[in-house]
Amino acid sequence: MAEAPTKMDVLSGLTHECGVFACVGTGTWPTQIDVAHTICMGLIALQHRGQESAGIVTSEGVDSRRFNIMKGMGLISNIFNDENIKKLTGNLGIGHTRYSTSAASEEVNCQPFVVHTAHGVLAVAHNGEIVNAERLRRMVLSRGVGLSTRSDSELITQALCLNPPDGERDGPDWPARITHLMKLTPLSYSLVIMEKDRVFAVRDPYGNRPLCIGKLLPIKDSKNTEDGWVISSESGGFLSIGARYVREVYPGEILEVSRSGIKTISIVKRPDDKPPAFCIFEYVYFARSDSIFEGQMVYSVRLQCGRMLAKESYIEADIVSSVPESGTAAAHGFSRETGIPFAEVLCRNRYIGRTFIQPSSRLRRLGIAKKFGALSENVEGKKIVLVDDSIVRGNTIGPIVKLLRDAGAIEVHVRIASPPLHHPCYMGINIPTNEELIANRLDSSELAQHCGADTLQYLSVDGLKEAVQLKMKVDKAEGTYGHCTACLTGEYPEELDW
Ligand code: SF4
Repeated sequence: MAEAPTKMDVLSGLTHECGVFACVGTGTWPTQIDVAHTICMGLIALQHRGQESAGIVTSEGVDSRRFNIMKGMGLISNIFNDENIKKLTGNLGIGHTRYSTSAASEEVNCQPFVVHTAHGVLAVAHNGEIVNAERLRRMVLSRGVGLSTRSDSELITQALCLNPPDGERDGPDWPARITHLMKLTPLSYSLVIMEKDRVFAVRDPYGNRPLCIGKLLPIKDSKNTEDGWVISSESGGFLSIGARYVREVYPGEILEVSRSGIKTISIVKRPDDKPPAFCIFEYVYFARSDSIFEGQMVYSVRLQCGRMLAKESYIEADIVSSVPESGTAAAHGFSRETGIPFAEVLCRNRYIGRTFIQPSSRLRRLGIAKKFGALSENVEGKKIVLVDDSIVRGNTIGPIVKLLRDAGAIEVHVRIASPPLHHPCYMGINIPTNEELIANRLDSSELAQHCGADTLQYLSVDGLKEAVQLKMKVDKAEGTYGHCTACLTGEYPEELDW
């Protein structure tokens, strides 16, 4: 398992560990597809998955010893500009935006990682967290390879260069090396791996983290005839880069993307034919509402969660509202199911960042106080159902309930569109420690009292699963489906190997 993240202490909620993106044009360099710009725009669409650092690496497709690399700390818009992005020439490239859990937030850990091997340069970008990282680390170190960081992603990069074991296969057979790595460590990663003239898109056999494919369309009424492919953690934002969603990368799939198109190299099976374990919290909280997973839009699932929540915990009220924007889709679902009208009650200060990026508990509390105002005309004299997507530490909902009461609400009933969080995540999501999770200290009626609400109810685990599976369309080639619910139920997809 990776180094314990010290930042847990300062986080108020759940946080990702990264987004990955790749773009491959079908032309030769100089290509008509502006690869670096496309990756930059793709990363901006994934900015919600990580705000600490970002990087882009491109290749002109001919020189196996040279990649163009640019990485830095901060938001994508702070790192890349029209001038410096011109240096990222190439007709293929990969990018990454990072939120750290397994290694410090420092420049040395910025991705993509680039390594020079006997067979050319290789660049790797990773979303997820390796559950048996310590075992893999020992294996890499025992074979004489030094590691300069605690990053799982550097570990993956070096393990790829080593595998299969020396002597078994000497050539640059990257698909064989990737397959070997996937058998050694089945969870959790979505990867984009670039060599000179092709990119591999890789999703772990459990499909724990998302990864999907888009097709870049030629521009109509122009001389541009080239098209291309993009690979991304999420499809949200594809339309804004002129791409059409194609499909998800299947759990266990190694997909090759090159000038000639996309090709499945192989699909690595899960150990003991276990079901897939796609992170159910991608639906609840992490992903953009316009992203598509398992054939359905995230927004529709959130709406359905609200409907399920209404069926499970109906209460009479004048209006249904949400903690914007995270609970809004579920609040609309609650409203449609019950017929209670939806009305906004909170106004967000858009210049205050999401609270989890505040650097200390004191500032975090200040951030919460500053983050919302109450729409008092909608609130005064009303019985309100207030819907939010999740409760983690429980330190944001109390001040919001107080704000509504101060603005004249006569009743506030909190409804949470996901089940209580009880357990840690070892697959790339920062969840506070067991003691910090409010659901491990207070049941729902104690929590209602704690935050000053009249009542508080969560969605059940079965209700969440039903909402997710109701309209799911899993591609036949993918076979079975399944979701990780470990942070809710304690049932982990793989036995933990420390
Ligand atoms: S433990 Fe929770 S957050 Fe982590 S992968 Fe499973 S469902 Fe997602």
